[in-house]
Amino acid sequence: MFKFLFNNKISQYKTIIQNINKLYVKYNQYTNNDICQKTQYFKKQLELGKELHEIMPECFAIMKQAINRATGLVLFDVQIIGALILNEGKIAEMKTGEGKTLVAILAAYLNSLYNQGVHIITVNEYLAKRDATLAKQICKYLDINVSIIEQNMNLRQRLEAYRADITYLTNSELGFDYLRDNMAINKEDLVQRDFFFAIIDEIDSILIDEARTPLIISGPSDNITNQYTQAKEITKQLDVNIDYEIDEKSKNIILNETGIYKCEQALNIKNLYDIKNTWVKYIINALKAKELFLINKDYIIKNNEIVIVDEFTGRVMEGRRWSDGLHQAIEAKENLNIQQENKTLASITYQNLFLLYKKLSGMTGTAKTEEAEFEKIYNLQVIEIPTNKINNRKDLADLIYKTEYSKWQAIASECFDMYQIGRPTLVGTTSIEKSEFLASILNSLNVPYNLLNAKPENIRRESEIISQAGQKYAITIATNMAGRGTDIILGGNPYLIAKIELINYLNQVLNDTYAINNSHNIDKILKILTDDLIKNKLKINKKNLNNTIESLINDKKIENTNTQIVYNVYLQLINYFNKFCKKEKEEIINQGGLYVIGTERHESRRIDNQLRGRSGRQGDTGSSRFFLSLQDNLIKIFGGVQISQLMENLNIDEDTPIESMILNKSLDSAQKKVEAYFYDVRKQLFEYDEVINSQRQAIYAERKRILKSTYARDCIIEYAENTVEEILNQYDKAANMNEKYNIINQIYTLLNIQIVVRKNSLASMQSHLIKNFFMEQIRITYDLREAYLETLRPGLIRQLEKYYLLQQIDYAWQEHLEKMLLLKESIGWRSYGQQDPLIEYKNEAFNLFINMVTYIRQTVIYLVMRSRLITNPET
Ligand code: ADP
Ligand code: MG
Repeated sequence: MFKFLFNNKISQYKTIIQNINKLYVKYNQYTNNDICQKTQYFKKQLELGKELHEIMPECFAIMKQAINRATGLVLFDVQIIGALILNEGKIAEMKTGEGKTLVAILAAYLNSLYNQGVHIITVNEYLAKRDATLAKQICKYLDINVSIIEQNMNLRQRLEAYRADITYLTNSELGFDYLRDNMAINKEDLVQRDFFFAIIDEIDSILIDEARTPLIISGPSDNITNQYTQAKEITKQLDVNIDYEIDEKSKNIILNETGIYKCEQALNIKNLYDIKNTWVKYIINALKAKELFLINKDYIIKNNEIVIVDEFTGRVMEGRRWSDGLHQAIEAKENLNIQQENKTLASITYQNLFLLYKKLSGMTGTAKTEEAEFEKIYNLQVIEIPTNKINNRKDLADLIYKTEYSKWQAIASECFDMYQIGRPTLVGTTSIEKSEFLASILNSLNVPYNLLNAKPENIRRESEIISQAGQKYAITIATNMAGRGTDIILGGNPYLIAKIELINYLNQVLNDTYAINNSHNIDKILKILTDDLIKNKLKINKKNLNNTIESLINDKKIENTNTQIVYNVYLQLINYFNKFCKKEKEEIINQGGLYVIGTERHESRRIDNQLRGRSGRQGDTGSSRFFLSLQDNLIKIFGGVQISQLMENLNIDEDTPIESMILNKSLDSAQKKVEAYFYDVRKQLFEYDEVINSQRQAIYAERKRILKSTYARDCIIEYAENTVEEILNQYDKAANMNEKYNIINQIYTLLNIQIVVRKNSLASMQSHLIKNFFMEQIRITYDLREAYLETLRPGLIRQLEKYYLLQQIDYAWQEHLEKMLLLKESIGWRSYGQQDPLIEYKNEAFNLFINMVTYIRQTVIYLVMRSRLITNPET
């Protein structure tokens, strides 16, 4: 049984697994009711002080039973090992198709017994729904409730969903809810509980690929500016390599002395880098727009708007905007309407968001190459779990062509050959442009194909196409991320084919256009449907056909004779396609299984592996090969002299690929350079965000304390006392009477103290006596103010206190975020000197934070001490 479990880290689980499987067999005799009652029993055990690991074997065995009863599947041992690793707060590396969805449910169930909620986080809503549906079916057997957070849910629904035992949600819903909660004005609007345990599916996608851009909630800012157009005009006068340099690797522009001088002249200013008047931001952005961001590559124009195209996935990122003014600079460049600048209201990086969990874990097919980063930043260990069956995929050596053109020709002719024999082939591309280019060659060769370019709105359809990419004759062109999380079944997925055929058929019958003449010979089956439907006077809703069938199939809700007939036909179709797909699968396996073609080395080996991993699931045969060219971006930018030299020296014809060891080494090292570069970007983002993060935690904690309190007076008194003390610290250092007098005056104004008489005499008193006096005054003035407001409207003061506090904290925090951004940028510009910019950043950030806190306290006191009711004269 443990034939494949050779690895040391894994063999330690041997006894536990045996134990769990023994219990599983024992539970065979349990009734469904017995199984269900176990959950309460486990919870009791924990309450009585048992440790999680003590009840774990029983728990996993019970869950294995529930899974079996709900789905008919029997968990593999490797799946249980995966769950053990998740439970330990580590990353389980398990290849595609190993059944990670069930692994997560196992670990989630165990941890949900603490009643603090478990989150299972996925990369998109389609997957969240798919997995939650499965989990619901299983957890019904265990008296555990499962929920899902969907984008269109309101606060109340979210609140409820977050109260479930296990919640499925996407990383961005999680993050935005977190930020929103920390901007809430009423404590009833808080939707999340404290973060307890999370399992992140496709963890590398979320913690590495998406970690380069922070989550931001923004609102319109007040300043509208024509600086973008002005900057664009000025940069027209600047020349590359004279006035500025381009750093293609880091997509950056460096201004030279002459450039700086020219700008200062043109703008008639003394210092381009003045932090109070940050022209340099506009200039740099205008230059970036001019030099580094190309239309139809980095962005497209759609409905007079700039739409971002992700550089590595080729995804069109509808609705996303580049931050910090870059988007506006590009709008200026393209002479489009310049949209209002947005101000960051709240932001957090994924790195820091996930560190808020008490226990964090994750799973993916590809983590090992980024092991060091997971360990360093997230403190997560990666454990490689062997596959259930031996991997039978052959990864063939790269073929390297001289030009990009001949590379694409070679790929197309490979697709042609595969299509002739009917072997399914998946081609991974890095951009829409390139996939369309390949598509056009295939058109000319008369090779049919499916083209996927990962638009967010197509994710569901995308998964369907991907899951069918293993059918005979299927040629699928897909950008990298297309259909991630969906595994490719050789011969196709009978359930899906049955569903699609059924929907197509009904669609056409309802429109009277169906001619029974089907390539799959399913007409007999469908004929039954037609006859019965006619007999029963067809009552299927045309409009919602897709949804009706979907829910009918998923929930198995049979409402009337019509649905009963449809469902029966569906079952027959499945039966038919089961046999059909099985036969095709055998043929495909004989041909070598799914063939994956890579068309470019990616930004990391991990992503290459993701693509390869599409093939060879659960012991299937399969192969993969990368087709590269010397003109590929990665090679051009990071290849260094060695490769470009070779390019010149090689005197072979364009259509013959090179398979040289020297080249492969240079390629690997080029790829490692890219990996290192992006790692640095993420690490820098993390290090800088860490500084804000501790500030954010402090502010959010204070905010929550106020939000939840029913008596914020104490907080304001405390603010007042601290403030007065701080101001008085200056008092002892004051050089003369005049200064002292000013300080006293300042406190009088702040506290709105009405008695004037003692001001003069105060100035000659000892400081501790002055302090006592003011501490007394704080309470007296406050009592007076409170009494005054209380006579006007009882209870008002309590509301006002909270309102002022939250309002000022939010306002100050937003201003602070903006200053921090400017600080970071300006330090970036200044960082050519000797100092470590991060240290400088930390110091200045600290000062800014202290200033913010002082500001909040003073403003709140000032406002509270002056609050009045202005009654409307008309009422
Ligand atoms: P992964 O997320 O690891 O790529 P999935 O969870 O999507 O894999 O599962 C892939 C397929 O394997 C699904 O069709 C699932 O039903 C099937 N599967 C999972 N576990 C088992 C099992 N123990 N026995 C048989 N099939 C399984
Ligand atoms: Mg999965």
